Amino acid sequence: MEVRVRFAPSPTGHLHIGGARTALFNFLYARQHNGKFILRIEDTDIERSTEDSLKQLISSLTWLGLTWDEGPEIGGEFGPYLQSDRLELYNLYSDKLLKEGKAYRCFCTAEELALERDKNLKAKQTPKYSGKCSNLSEFEIKKKLDEKIPFTIRFKVEKDINIEFKDHVHKKVSINTAMIGDFVIVRSNGLATYNFAVVIDDALMKITHVFRGDDHISNTPKQILIFKAMGFSIPEFGHLSMILGKDGSRLSKRHGATSVEEFKEIGYLPDAMVNYLALLGWYPKEGKDGKVEEILDQGELIEQFDIDSVSKHPARFNLKKLDWVNTQYIKKLSDKKLIQFAKPFLEKEGLWNADDLEGMKKIIGIIKFYISKISDFPEYAKLFFKEFKMDEKLYSTIFNSETKILAESLLEGFSNLEDYSPESIFPVLKEVTKKTKIKGRDFYMPLRLILTGQEHGPDINNIISVFGKDRMIKLLNNFIEFKK
Ligand code: GLU
Repeated sequence: MEVRVRFAPSPTGHLHIGGARTALFNFLYARQHNGKFILRIEDTDIERSTEDSLKQLISSLTWLGLTWDEGPEIGGEFGPYLQSDRLELYNLYSDKLLKEGKAYRCFCTAEELALERDKNLKAKQTPKYSGKCSNLSEFEIKKKLDEKIPFTIRFKVEKDINIEFKDHVHKKVSINTAMIGDFVIVRSNGLATYNFAVVIDDALMKITHVFRGDDHISNTPKQILIFKAMGFSIPEFGHLSMILGKDGSRLSKRHGATSVEEFKEIGYLPDAMVNYLALLGWYPKEGKDGKVEEILDQGELIEQFDIDSVSKHPARFNLKKLDWVNTQYIKKLSDKKLIQFAKPFLEKEGLWNADDLEGMKKIIGIIKFYISKISDFPEYAKLFFKEFKMDEKLYSTIFNSETKILAESLLEGFSNLEDYSPESIFPVLKEVTKKTKIKGRDFYMPLRLILTGQEHGPDINNIISVFGKDRMIKLLNNFIEFKK
């Protein structure tokens, strides 16, 4: 049987990290089983679903490289893939359940239901519908319908049976229906509820495995009951844990970025993001050498991912770890790709020279070893673009008899140098050290400050190489002649 999995987000905001991980685990499972990954949009919450969110969702999934085989934009054999285009289907099936006596119309008003609820709570019972309307006679029903009294449709829950299912993450789950009252499958406005629509969709789309957030674990028994009542085959389930922030509370805005879009804007690479998401709740096995390789590209993840070893415990989002993963990917990226990613960030800060692509390549190649996010590029690139101007305050902290000699000696060395390739720089510095006997921090710190005004930055040989002769001479002279 072909594996068919789905990601079924509601387009009510940005794609959250938790949703992205659910999408990823489904995608990996489909790919490793040569199955199909389906994107279905649960947009029946009319008030909260927006066209913009849908666009955003599609763009975030596409950016992550999680391509779907059936769904919006590409269609497929089992469409439509937007729930709002499937409403009639749900009615067809709720009618069927009504006819078979597996569901019934409930005419209870909101006030009546609230009263029941209060009673339950007072008696320290879990609130649960009494089933009152299941006993209405044909005659009573007809009368109420004629009077146009609004109604919901409720599913008749078989009393006191155990519903067990094997969960790929939580292993064995068992719930007694004593906990579940007859629940609403169609609202009084005629719209199917989530629990009903999801079953019809999963069944008609021939979904074999349902992997989703564990906030749905309590919905699963209800859905299994509907699958059974319909005579549909029941998919396998896997419920993924929540993602928590550093402080142990559910990952939210308070922790900073939470959506894929935000991480993209900050300058994380899509492959790094995917790699890190996979490590939220899942961990690769040791290799033959006893080491665990955490940096895994999409192909490696497809090969190694194992839904059955995903932890049921909440995962902690660790920004430092994400930065580390991103750093690994930045280093690995080809110059061409890196330029593509870095360009918009540099351009935005006016740090892009379209006339000197070779120079840009060189600068990016130097900086890439120092940053963890693409958005760090401008901070490091600044010194190459904006010539640093010595000022009184800095001058007085650098200047002494030793740095004076150092600067003069450097000026002499670099005036005589023609080839400014990085390899040619070091011998000059070595020569000056030998001559002046100034070395280590006493050598490099003033040099760095004289050239850039900053205490830290990329490798000094590389900086000098990019600056070239004219700029070097000018900067050294700026210092030497500052007080003259
Ligand atoms: N729209 C639901 C959600 O985003 C889908 C749950 C499911 O996958 O069944 O949580």
